[in-house]
Amino acid sequence: MPQTPTEPRPAAVVIGGGPAGLMAAEVLAGAGCSVTVHDHMASVGRKLLLAGRGGLNLTHSEPTDDLLTRYGTATPRLEAAIRAWPASALRAWCAELGEPTFVGSSGRVFPRSFRATPLLRAWLARLADAGVVIETRHRFVGFGSAPRSVRIATPDGEHELVADVVVLALGGASWPRVGSDGGWAAMLRAAGVEVAAMRPANCGLRIPWRPELLAKHEGAPVKNVQLSLDGVGVRGDVVITRAGLEGGPVYALAAVARDLIERNGSCTVHIDLSPDRSEAQLAERLARSRPGDSVNTALRRAAGLSPVAAALVRELGGRTLPTAPGDLARLVKRLPFVTVATMPIDRAISSAGGVRLDEVDDRFMLRALPGVFVAGEMLDWEAPTGGYLLQASFSTAVAAARGALAWLTEQPGRDSD
Ligand SMILES: Cc1cc2nc3c(=O)[nH]c(=O)nc-3n(C[C@H](O)[C@H](O)[C@H](O)COP(=O)(O)OP(=O)(O)OC[C@H]3O[C@@H](n4cnc5c(N)ncnc54)[C@H](O)[C@@H]3O)c2cc1C
Repeated sequence: MPQTPTEPRPAAVVIGGGPAGLMAAEVLAGAGCSVTVHDHMASVGRKLLLAGRGGLNLTHSEPTDDLLTRYGTATPRLEAAIRAWPASALRAWCAELGEPTFVGSSGRVFPRSFRATPLLRAWLARLADAGVVIETRHRFVGFGSAPRSVRIATPDGEHELVADVVVLALGGASWPRVGSDGGWAAMLRAAGVEVAAMRPANCGLRIPWRPELLAKHEGAPVKNVQLSLDGVGVRGDVVITRAGLEGGPVYALAAVARDLIERNGSCTVHIDLSPDRSEAQLAERLARSRPGDSVNTALRRAAGLSPVAAALVRELGGRTLPTAPGDLARLVKRLPFVTVATMPIDRAISSAGGVRLDEVDDRFMLRALPGVFVAGEMLDWEAPTGGYLLQASFSTAVAAARGALAWLTEQPGRDSD
């Protein structure tokens, strides 16, 4: 954004130093704004670093049209943001930061180091070179009386800052320990912005295991199973935890399970413990087990189940397990469990809900607060794991920052060329 020699650089305040806030800061600084990022934690990017512990799945390599279907009822606004800054842009950006990416066997995209630390370190250095100032232990506590003014609580007291543009990138409400506590929702509602209730997404499902199962198998992975719910089947590994079941297939079905539980009070998920064999093949193998073998031995020797998978059949298969091979095979292929709750939001990978997308215009500016833009997970979109969360956080940040720059040029007293 070219300035005349006498014109001061536009002051941009970004609140929230996660991937969305830092990306908005980068775009704004690159266009000549004087940018300050305020974050209430002692350091920025904490959730990004947490995501790095799982390998940092940055995005997905599938074609953009397919990728967009992962956002369910994504509005045209979210779609436009992702098309304008798609997975290829994210990958190029990483490579520029010295962290080339690669496509894993599942099509997911990761940085070569499989970690977030080198990426964040290089990014923060580049932001500092671009003049971006990062203020930590600065908490956004509400809006001020003037347009585009925000109240920030700091260790030295509360200050009211007035900016030319404000970008809010305060995250969702999962894992509050790393900063995203969702406390901003009350402040936005008070300012007349509609915020959909925050709900857990990509989370585990609660199951009240018997102590005997936990004593032997807590933390154990159950490899290569298929979970089915509401006509959708997802394959992968699941893990037995103290409170229930976690893992990729569980997270993939969590949104459907959450909605069914909200509607009906519970839902029944089925596990196929032997997805590579048909029921008939399994029954045939079980029929060949030695006379006198216990059901447990038959499940392990003849059906080839791991000890933990066989234990799940005993745990969830009812008081008396069927002994007829056909019935037992059916159970192994469709082992039901009832769940009445998802894991709480503070243990979820992401949250659904947030600032409703019709509260922002095509530039991601709040209709109720001109000059204030919103980006990242605090917006009301939802997606499964697979890199879709970071992709949308980055893409909406680029869109919000570009929107802010476009809006600035339209303000009286600023050049529009
Ligand atoms: C365990 C885990 C693993 C994950 N793995 C992946 C993955 O592999 N791939 C993927 O795509 N996604 C993953 N995610 C999700 C991804 O990390 C988030 O979607 C993403 O970080 C959202 O970015 P954001 O910038 O919108 O919000 P955040 O990263 O949450 O950043 C928000 C920032 O705002 C600050 N803030 C909040 N309130 C205030 C306030 N009042 N005042 C000042 N500052 C405030 C917070 O301190 C924080 O720094 C994972 C999440 C978790 C929890």
